Amino acid sequence: MARFVFITGGVVSSLGKGLASAALGALLQARGFSVRLRKLDPYLNVDPGTMSPFEHGEVFVTDDGAETDLDLGHYERFTGVAARKTDSVSSGRIYSNVLEKERRGDYLGKTIQVIPHVTDEIKDWIAIGEEEVDFMLCEIGGTVGDIEGLPFFEAIRQFAQERPRGQCVFMHLTLLPWIAASGELKTKPTQHSVKELRSIGLAPDVLVCRSERPIPEKERSKIALFCNVRKEDVIAAPDLKSIYEAPLAYHREGLDQAILDAFAISPAPKPDLSKWEDVADRIFHPEGEVKVAIVGKYTQLEDAYKSIAEALTHGGMANRVQVKTEWIDAEIFERDDPAPYLEGFDAILVPGGFGERGTEGKIRAAQFARERNVPYLGICLGMQMAVIEAARNVAGLADAGSEEFDHEAGKRRFTPVVYHLKEWVQGSHKVERRPDDDKGGTMRLGAYRAVLAEDSKVAKIYGTTEIEERHRHRYEVDNRYREKLEKCGLIFSGMSPDGRLPEIVEWKDHPWFIGVQFHPELKSKPFAPHPLFADFIRAAKEMNWLV
Ligand code: GLN
Repeated sequence: MARFVFITGGVVSSLGKGLASAALGALLQARGFSVRLRKLDPYLNVDPGTMSPFEHGEVFVTDDGAETDLDLGHYERFTGVAARKTDSVSSGRIYSNVLEKERRGDYLGKTIQVIPHVTDEIKDWIAIGEEEVDFMLCEIGGTVGDIEGLPFFEAIRQFAQERPRGQCVFMHLTLLPWIAASGELKTKPTQHSVKELRSIGLAPDVLVCRSERPIPEKERSKIALFCNVRKEDVIAAPDLKSIYEAPLAYHREGLDQAILDAFAISPAPKPDLSKWEDVADRIFHPEGEVKVAIVGKYTQLEDAYKSIAEALTHGGMANRVQVKTEWIDAEIFERDDPAPYLEGFDAILVPGGFGERGTEGKIRAAQFARERNVPYLGICLGMQMAVIEAARNVAGLADAGSEEFDHEAGKRRFTPVVYHLKEWVQGSHKVERRPDDDKGGTMRLGAYRAVLAEDSKVAKIYGTTEIEERHRHRYEVDNRYREKLEKCGLIFSGMSPDGRLPEIVEWKDHPWFIGVQFHPELKSKPFAPHPLFADFIRAAKEMNWLV
């Protein structure tokens, strides 16, 4: 039977609740417990799959094909536990389940209400798979007081009430603002936030307080007194130089001990933090530096490519170098020659994306990398653009393009070397799609196997010829161009097991030019950097040493 930790936030958003939850998960693991993390989001979208990255940051994809919140990426990166569809739920999903049941007649003629029908649905969701782990950590998105969040707060209150005493613990994150004029950390917003929580029946057991400065004894006592927690349960969460310091930092501040005390687990098993000490050592003591240009569309918002930024950091850790990234808007290369922008970089990465804007610029970036022998990693759209570049500039198909930007029948601008995939095989069943399908949840999503060519660069990098990676795309490189492109040196070195869908391409005579149809960044961990990112940075480091 799992113990539950409910994590809520107050005062302001973006306090790093996801990170605190993930770090707590890692610390409980370090003490020998098994964990699963779960995110409950109050917004009304059924899932974040249809939200713009500008709006919501990256969409994180799970093995079982769910499009989820980027916090699930943090959870995986810190615990190594592969998230599932059931680890992310929004109000939209909850309401849509309830309404579906209502239409089916499952409620036997009852009036459907937030309490109990919506709250019951939330409680059922929270408990899924509880028998598998020691701890289930559930983070509630948003901040206390949000209208949308109320059913979730009410559901966790009921949940804890219905469970045996001591099975649920509440952790609340707040902010202690620093007022420069008076030279003080202010506790009032935290007091108000806890008051708000208590007014809806929730009493936090542990308070995590973000602050720029250490919390003086006086303020700590004041928070404990006014918020009705023990002094040891007021945990300081100082700003960190690297997120990967979080498990060690939270342990130093006593977070895991406070949580175990709240569950009355005594004596608490001793933690083994060696994994995180090694991670911190690699982060804080690099022996060099490489510069990577990321040529993409959503460059204003770093969260839009969160997992890529993290995977690059992990690749740096594997090579003991610091990876400096610069985000370049692909559209610039539609006006300007990319050379002056890209010449100073050791490697170029073109990430995934949707829509035509910026794609001609990405094609030019791929061309620059190919011609100048600069390491290039193309991910999803970044692979498709590299194939189009090869088709146009090497294989002589001057009008090569993607069907994604050219769907008007009869008015084609391009020869579609990348086409809209309408059917494919997932495991043992066939999936079919039509152009007028809904946008939500209809892409090729989740983990798929691929087979790598024996003598390819990627087989060497992975150390195997069978891999499984996560996908999120509608379009696919057309295998009918394989022969033509391979003759020019662009090898289709990874294919779907049925041999129909190109999964990886690589230039034979280039030091490091690889395009992948999937998203390797989603599976990279600080303590287990993804082989493609580790080797990409190794190649970048060699470039760096040649100049
Ligand atoms: N837009 C492209 C497709 O749907 C690429 C998607 C991606 O990069 N994730 O195939």
